[in-house]
Amino acid sequence: MSRQKKRTPSFFESVERNFNKAAAKTSIPKGLIDQIRVCNAVYQMRFPVRVGNKFEVIEAYRVQHSHHRLPTKGGIRYSDKVTQSEVMALATLMTYKCAIVDVPFGGAKGGVKINPYKYDEQTLQNITRRYTTELIRKNFIGPGIDVPAPDYGTGPREMAWILDTYQTFKPEDIDRAACVTGKPVAQNGIRGRGEATGRGVFYGLREVMSHKDDMSKLGLSVGTEGKTMVIQGLGNVGSHTGLISIKEGGFKVIAVSEYEGAIYSSKGIHMEKLLKYRKEKGTIIGFPGTKKLPTREVALELECDVLVPAALENQITISNAKRIKAKIIAEAANGPVSADAEEILLKKGVLIIPDMYINAGGVTVSYFEWLKNLSHMRFGRMEKRFDANQYTGLINLVAKMTGKTVTNKERNWLARGADEVDLVRSGLEETMATAYQQIRETYKRKRSVQDLRTAAFVSAINKISADYISFGIFP
Ligand code: GLU
Repeated sequence: MSRQKKRTPSFFESVERNFNKAAAKTSIPKGLIDQIRVCNAVYQMRFPVRVGNKFEVIEAYRVQHSHHRLPTKGGIRYSDKVTQSEVMALATLMTYKCAIVDVPFGGAKGGVKINPYKYDEQTLQNITRRYTTELIRKNFIGPGIDVPAPDYGTGPREMAWILDTYQTFKPEDIDRAACVTGKPVAQNGIRGRGEATGRGVFYGLREVMSHKDDMSKLGLSVGTEGKTMVIQGLGNVGSHTGLISIKEGGFKVIAVSEYEGAIYSSKGIHMEKLLKYRKEKGTIIGFPGTKKLPTREVALELECDVLVPAALENQITISNAKRIKAKIIAEAANGPVSADAEEILLKKGVLIIPDMYINAGGVTVSYFEWLKNLSHMRFGRMEKRFDANQYTGLINLVAKMTGKTVTNKERNWLARGADEVDLVRSGLEETMATAYQQIRETYKRKRSVQDLRTAAFVSAINKISADYISFGIFP
């Protein structure tokens, strides 16, 4: 045996390895598999930005993994760890993510190699506007071409800057608002996009945990009520996953790990209060009723029903996989489990719910936002009042026929027409439930498929290959 310590595969290598494992379980010819695997376009750019009285050269990327459906879609990451290979891995995952949830886009991702916390708001705006200009120059952005969104280190503010830059150059494009998603609601965004990835994680977990035979294999009862959860990362995804899982699923979050350290409470952590505490104090450490764990890494190794890594890639590798005691891992981040760690975890019987399914809520609601922008109208605007009037008529009729009275509270609840946010949540819930049923079906039907990630890949690869075949490019 080699004495050298085994190197953790890079994120991109893990994605390729997982893809190859699944591709071998399909009957798709090699040429087509090769076409599906590769990144179709990689744009690497360097541009100068003035910072104070100096200039800095910024390194940035936009990768379009697959053009089988257009536009391509995926977030933009601001982090000093950005590399071309990382952005390629993330763009690749976007293709399969979109296929799994039947969002009709190819995958893409952008990355700007900066630490966003190092710059003031004006400089960040300059960087974002310049990056957008570079994308416009090379025709790498547009409602029908490539549509960015938030990712690690970016949010609605950056998306508003992107839209404003785009419309400065393309005022004649009547669909310009659809050139980017994840915008502030007041700037052509959609209600429910901010919480979407976290809400999708919860809907996904609820679906997965509703299957009695799968849960009893893990020694768990059906349902989410009272189940313990550990969360790594309190960014947009981790915080909403925690808030919604507690409020709507009855989960108990027993530990949280963040940059500054990790905290634990067997009684459960009050997420809303914790987020407020962190905002005020700048740390989660010292939050009343919790104890500080020796390191932030040990949180991942705690005994729990569901572990939610919601930070970055390669958090669970061969160096800690053996010590993981969670029964279920819900990959809220992209690529948190390396391919070799997964082998160890699967042998231990851990159920890994893959990123490309469980964190697809963000892109799903991005799709709704894009549709809203193309229709130039808010969802629910036409039918809300009509529905409410019809329901009121129905309630009155039932009350009259039965002689029963309906309280005002009941009436208000029953006779409500759907708002935009109700429709977004309902569309998301439906998407997450249907997508899981498809993955599970592949998992149960194909004996050679032993895990959910491979099942998700097989299902996605089959959908994409059907597109290529229908184009007549491949026989
Ligand atoms: N960055 C998110 C993801 O990784 C969202 C992408 C989007 O909405 O286009 O899925």
